[in-house]
Amino acid sequence: MKLEPEYELLRDNLRKFTRKELDPWVNTIEEKGEVPAEVVDLLARHGYLGMRLDTSLGGAGAGLFAYCLTLEEFSRSHRIFTLIVLGTSGLAAISIARHGTPAQRQKYLPGMVQGKIASSFALTEPDAGSDPAGMKTHARKVDGGWLLNGGKHYISNGHRADFVVVMAVTNPDKRAGGRVSAFLVDRGIPGFSVPRVERTMASDSIQLAELTFKDCLLPDDALLGQPGAGFGMAMESLVDGRMSVACSCIGAADRLLEMSVAHAKLRQTFGKPLATRQAIQWMLADSAVELRAARALTYDTIRRVEAGEDTGTAPSMCKLYCSEMVGRIADRAVQIHGGMGMVRSCPVERFYRDVRSYRIGEGPSEIQRMIIARDLVGK
Ligand SMILES: Cc1cc2nc3c(=O)[nH]c(=O)nc-3n(C[C@H](O)[C@H](O)[C@H](O)COP(=O)(O)OP(=O)(O)OC[C@H]3O[C@@H](n4cnc5c(N)ncnc54)[C@H](O)[C@@H]3O)c2cc1C
Repeated sequence: MKLEPEYELLRDNLRKFTRKELDPWVNTIEEKGEVPAEVVDLLARHGYLGMRLDTSLGGAGAGLFAYCLTLEEFSRSHRIFTLIVLGTSGLAAISIARHGTPAQRQKYLPGMVQGKIASSFALTEPDAGSDPAGMKTHARKVDGGWLLNGGKHYISNGHRADFVVVMAVTNPDKRAGGRVSAFLVDRGIPGFSVPRVERTMASDSIQLAELTFKDCLLPDDALLGQPGAGFGMAMESLVDGRMSVACSCIGAADRLLEMSVAHAKLRQTFGKPLATRQAIQWMLADSAVELRAARALTYDTIRRVEAGEDTGTAPSMCKLYCSEMVGRIADRAVQIHGGMGMVRSCPVERFYRDVRSYRIGEGPSEIQRMIIARDLVGK
């Protein structure tokens, strides 16, 4: 899809950088099951960490389109590159930038932008996933700080994070607004432990941690923003979060379609290339149509966000459509590759596993449908 000249140039440069600098790391990341420090350093040196942060805070001050194009291009290589970028421009970083005190910004943001401090964001609990109202983790004001108790699970990078933004109930008498506060919890603080790390069906570089807080005494300055402002912070980042997932899905789908076309042209059965068979052509055609529709919907929404328009439920539509679209394209890609699509040495197999969680994280498909439908029919 043709873009404005400055974005065409950006996309070309991102594609070159991804091929030259990121692609060569993919096998190492898969073999080790983690990201070598050199990769984080590489992304930091090229200015991809803290992209969405203001330049006065050491970031690149990137607009939403530039940020989303970066995620799209990195996602063509390996999902983990997008997660590293997101970790420094996502909820934790943006909330500190917007709501942190000067001391909190100084403590965390420069290190994040330089790739020296890793963060996580912890909202989900066993009884609080799609419905965060079930949150049990709580913090009580005591002399000299806050006493944090409870636990979180499915926290991306939680076992490797230097600090975690933890959402905890501070005012149980309130229902939504004012009930939950955000805390900056440093690794190593007494009472904070990581009892379990779950491997998932995705790449081993993407693991989910269980976090436990037992009488964790947090200093007063661990509170981020005002007491009770936690949910508000999460809401502020919803548009960015949904659009970043949509673009990551588009990047993965684009690469999957590219690999599918190349394989269909190369592979011969019964004396002819697969690409000459109608059954295969229809799969490719369906994938191309869905990918184009996903891009059109997503880019249009980003442009409207950047223009300051009220986009209503459009970001939910983007997140829903793109996460389901990439699942269908990954499935067709495996089918077109046959046995090759199932083996670890073929990237299609990895993409197929990695894209599955896009339908669950950042609000599952059912919750996005609920948001869109409520807007149509009223609550
Ligand atoms: C790869 C990955 C990374 C993650 N990283 C993080 C992280 O860093 N930090 C964090 O806090 N959390 C993280 N999560 C957790 C994620 O946000 C939750 O898994 C998600 O919100 C869903 O919650 P749940 O797993 O409890 O599912 P549930 O809430 O139990 O839902 C189960 C299913 O039921 C559906 N459902 C729920 N309610 C309804 C309803 N009313 N009507 C119809 N259907 C419904 C859901 O859509 C889902 O399909 C991550 C999850 C994954 C998979």
